[in-house]
Amino acid sequence: MSKNRIVKVAVPCPLYKTFDYRLNTQHGNRAIQAGVRVRIPFGRQKLVGIIVEEIQHSDVPANKLKSVTAVLDDHSLFSDDLLNLLFWAARYYVHPLGDVIQTALPVYLRSNDDATPSLSEYWHINHTKTAPHEEIQQILKRAPKQQQIYQLLYDAENGLDADALNSLTNNWRPAIKALLAKQFINQDVKPAVIRAKNSGKKNFCLTEEQTAAVNSITSHLHEHSVHVLNGVTGSGKTEVYLSLCETTLAANKQVLVLVPEIGLTPQLMQRFRERLDTNIVVLHSAMNDKQRYAAWHAAATNQAQLIIGTRSTIFTPLPEPGLIIVDEEHDGSYKQQDGFRYNARDLAILRAKNSNIPIVLGSATPSIESLNNINEQRYMVHYLKQRANKKPLPKIKLVNLCNQKLHEGMAETLLSTIKQHLDQHGQVLLFINRRGFAPLLMCHDCGWTTNCLRCDAHMTFHKRRKQLHCHHCGSQRAAPEHCEECGSTNILAIGAGTERIEQYLQSAFPDTQVSRIDRDTTRNKGSLEDKLQKAHSGESGILVGTQMLAKGHDFPNLTLVCILDTDQALFSADFRAAEHLAQLVTQVSGRAGRAEKPGEVLIQTHHPEHPLLQTLLHKGYASFAEAALKERQAAGLPPARHLAILRCESVDSKAAQFFLDQAIEQSQQVDKDNVDIFGPMPAPMERRAGRFRYQIMLQSDNRKALHQFLSWWAPQLQQLASSRKVRWSIDVDPYDTF
Ligand code: ADP
Ligand code: ZN
Ligand code: ZN
Repeated sequence: MSKNRIVKVAVPCPLYKTFDYRLNTQHGNRAIQAGVRVRIPFGRQKLVGIIVEEIQHSDVPANKLKSVTAVLDDHSLFSDDLLNLLFWAARYYVHPLGDVIQTALPVYLRSNDDATPSLSEYWHINHTKTAPHEEIQQILKRAPKQQQIYQLLYDAENGLDADALNSLTNNWRPAIKALLAKQFINQDVKPAVIRAKNSGKKNFCLTEEQTAAVNSITSHLHEHSVHVLNGVTGSGKTEVYLSLCETTLAANKQVLVLVPEIGLTPQLMQRFRERLDTNIVVLHSAMNDKQRYAAWHAAATNQAQLIIGTRSTIFTPLPEPGLIIVDEEHDGSYKQQDGFRYNARDLAILRAKNSNIPIVLGSATPSIESLNNINEQRYMVHYLKQRANKKPLPKIKLVNLCNQKLHEGMAETLLSTIKQHLDQHGQVLLFINRRGFAPLLMCHDCGWTTNCLRCDAHMTFHKRRKQLHCHHCGSQRAAPEHCEECGSTNILAIGAGTERIEQYLQSAFPDTQVSRIDRDTTRNKGSLEDKLQKAHSGESGILVGTQMLAKGHDFPNLTLVCILDTDQALFSADFRAAEHLAQLVTQVSGRAGRAEKPGEVLIQTHHPEHPLLQTLLHKGYASFAEAALKERQAAGLPPARHLAILRCESVDSKAAQFFLDQAIEQSQQVDKDNVDIFGPMPAPMERRAGRFRYQIMLQSDNRKALHQFLSWWAPQLQQLASSRKVRWSIDVDPYDTF
């Protein structure tokens, strides 16, 4: 008889602890792996938890110990390095382990399913069949159901699975069977894996700088090392990635590539597919749960060797890890802003360390954090200072807005430069990080403005839809025709967003196609691809866009880039605002002059003498970043000091404040050597989506001290009765202080 076995289980709940369960004898004496799913009773619920370890003794009295209902997996769902990463991340980000593991698990595996779900089959047109489409249609004329199904599959680019067919038609199985028998269609399991094939398209040699970077990184391929690939836009960073991928894949190792946003980087994807001989899976938010699981599974079983994806892809199990690449490492999308608030770039570095493999952080504008790590010789750096095509980087000029006559916020010099470029058949990109027509409406008689009822913010006017939208909470209402205060119809639209700029430019340049590319105009499936294609071909002469257009795109005809509004960022309360502005200016500028014609960049501002702009213009991003780092050091901000925020929000502002007051009181119970605590204070936007928001800032020179304190504090906070009446969270290494 085996004695009673006990396992420690991470349960998907917001509590800072694990739970002990008995493992019944039916599970025999088999060693049980950490990372295996178990079904467990939890209060009145049935949940799926993950085994953390088997233990000899539990502090829970034997008669209180509940039993695991079922063991769901034979083997751990995570590779060892990944499981260690999750344990570490739970401690580092001071977040409940059960929730951390839940975040890392594909949604498809989180449910109450018995065993590992099977991957579904799907059907697609048999393209090797010799009969042409029309002929097959003819043959099927007398079998209308088969003809219908055949047409549906023909129209669906990637075939259809049972779910899709069910949603389109009924009683389709007999027709599928018949079509399979006729070999007009094929059956497969869900196509998670893309078979990439080197098409021999590369017809150039690496530049000297590229070769140096590749050689230097390759000499470290068998050990852990962090490499920053600091290359100006157009310098050919992707070629360096591809070359490193080739070497790693040839050694039968897997490569994980993190990118900020898949939809915005179709060109990058295409280059990987055309240049490597391997199996690729892509993980992104537009996939459904089953597709994501299929991709995850293909990576976990080494059926795919190249894994490309956004933030959460860092949690993909890799049996044969060889290399991690983080493209645009400075990008804010790597930081998850709710729930488990991790930074995928930082986790990637730790994961590479756990796996003893190298990691490459690529950017034209490395983050101040990475720069600091280079200075302190923790990271190696490789520069690509020249564009691959040897074209110079565009000239940046400031347009002083003071006392200028403005047209929807655009100076006349700017408009005349646009005209010049269009006359010379150049393409123009105007960048403004504000959607909609105008950021607010105002009554000209009494000064009333369109405020959001739920936020301390104005509502943006969307003219075409005749609506007001709050970009902070999503509230919408019809745009008013009268002032809601005095009834006047004299209502002004104040300021300009993409919609207004587009409208003005279309009327000022009627012979040029103006294309607006923002979240509003690209909501429909295929519309972004369509707009990018027209931008790429030059059919759209003027592009008006938000940060969707800032990176990754290569528009060969683009000769002029205009950045319309920089002043807000120059004076923002957020400590990263200057860094973001500099990155944005550099990235957006890099879009211009990629091909034959030289590029030009205009930046509008009321503050042309601002030191930040001056440094950026005359000395470049690297000098700017060094100056910004010094400023952060002087101000005691990250990365010089470590920062964490305890945030709290509630519809009841007193409840939120009371919780934080108690939190402060509690914090005084222990010795907090080296940790400075500030607050409570209102968040910069005090009310959002109907909730009042307050925060406490924690700073320390010593990361360990900060963590020691936080890991003591978090479970204590959870004990406070007042914590149950509010929403609260701890954010370690916050991306912003809002
Ligand atoms: P980045 O990612 O640094 O912005 P890319 O890798 O997209 O740069 O390269 C910019 C352009 O230069 C691409 O069109 C690419 O095909 C081309 N390119 C890259 N390396 C070379 C090279 N060694 N010789 C010629 N063209 C190159
Ligand atoms: Zn009024
Ligand atoms: Zn709002």
